[in-house]
Amino acid sequence: MMPLSSAKRIIEKITRLNNNNNNINTLIWHGGEPLLWGIENYRAIFENTEIYKDRTLFKHSIQTNLSLINDEYIELFKQYDVRIGFSLDGPKNINDKYRKRIDGSGSYDTIIRNFYKCRDAGLNVGAIIVASSVLKNRIPELYRFICEHKLNFKFNPLFLAGEATNCQTLSLTPLEYAQMSNELFDLWFFDKEHHIKESTFEDIASAFLTENKITKGCMFSRNCQDNFLAISPHGDVFPCGRFCDTDTTYSYGNINVEPLEIILNRKKESAQYKRAEFIAQSGCKDCSFFDICHGGCLHDGYLNGGNFETKTFLCGAYKIIFSHIRDRVQEYLAPHYNAN
Ligand code: SF4
Ligand code: SF4
Repeated sequence: MMPLSSAKRIIEKITRLNNNNNNINTLIWHGGEPLLWGIENYRAIFENTEIYKDRTLFKHSIQTNLSLINDEYIELFKQYDVRIGFSLDGPKNINDKYRKRIDGSGSYDTIIRNFYKCRDAGLNVGAIIVASSVLKNRIPELYRFICEHKLNFKFNPLFLAGEATNCQTLSLTPLEYAQMSNELFDLWFFDKEHHIKESTFEDIASAFLTENKITKGCMFSRNCQDNFLAISPHGDVFPCGRFCDTDTTYSYGNINVEPLEIILNRKKESAQYKRAEFIAQSGCKDCSFFDICHGGCLHDGYLNGGNFETKTFLCGAYKIIFSHIRDRVQEYLAPHYNAN
C-alpha cells in the first residue's frame, strides 16, 4: 500500500504543476480493495487536499467492493463529497455465481446492504455491472433488478486481463456483448419511469445529438493520455490503472525518484501517447464513428495487438452499438423535427 507520506507528496507535486490554474483534478482511489488503506489515511489525505484548494481543486472518487464501509467512512465521504463506485453483477443469483468472499459465500448481501447505507446517507454511489456470459439471455431480469433498486450503473464489458484471465468461461464474443448492450439500452432508453443513469449510454446518445461529438468518459476520448494517469503504490506512473498489474515496462517513470514534469514530458514522447496519431491515420479514419470512438480504449487496443497502434478488440461490438444508439436517437427525434 502507498505510504501516506508518498500520497501527500503526490498531491503537492500535482498542485505545483498546476501552477495556480484552478484545474479540477479527480483522484480515483483504487485497489485491490482501497478501503484497506484505513480511515485515518483517508482523513489525512482529504484534509491535505483541502490545504491547496485555493490553488488546485481535488475531487475524490473511490472504487470499492463495499465490504469494509462503515458509518465512520460514510461520514467522512459525505464531508468530502467522495463519489463511490462498486461492482455488482445483478441480482443475488447472478452476482453470487462468481463474486464470492474469501469463505466462499456470495458477496451480494453485503454489497446491497452497504449500497443502501451509502445512498440513504446521501452519497453519490453507482455500480459497475460487468457484461459476462452469466448475463446471457438475462438482460430483462437485470434491468428489473436495476429499477427495483434505482441503481445508477455502467455496463462494462469483461476484459480478459489480470485475474479475469482465469475466467475464460465468463467472456463474451464482441457480437454477444453488443446484443446484450443494445437490449439493455432499449430498456433504459424507453423507460420513462425510473430515471436511471447509465453514463456510457448517455455519453454515446449525447454525442449523436451534438455537433462536436465529444464524449465525457475516457474510453472514447481522442487521447485518454491527455487526462488520465495512474500511480502505483510504489510510485510508478502508468497510462492507466489497467496497466498497474503488469511490470514497469509501460511505466512513464517513478514519482519518488523524478520530478512529475519529467515524467509527463516522457509520457508525451511515448508510444502510448502517440497512439492517437496512429489511430487517426489507421483504418479507423474512414469509419463513420471515428469522431465518437477514436479507436476505443488504449488498454483494449494493447490487449488486441500487444502494441499501441491497434484499435480496440471491441471494434465490431462498438459499430453495432453506435449504429443502434444513433438509430434510436434519430427515431426519437424524427417526430419532433416533423412537427416543426
Ligand atoms: S468503431 Fe472500430 S473502426 Fe470505428 S473508430 Fe471505433 S475502433 Fe475504429
Ligand atoms: S487505457 Fe482505457 S480505461 Fe484506461 S484511461 Fe485509457 S481509455 Fe480509459
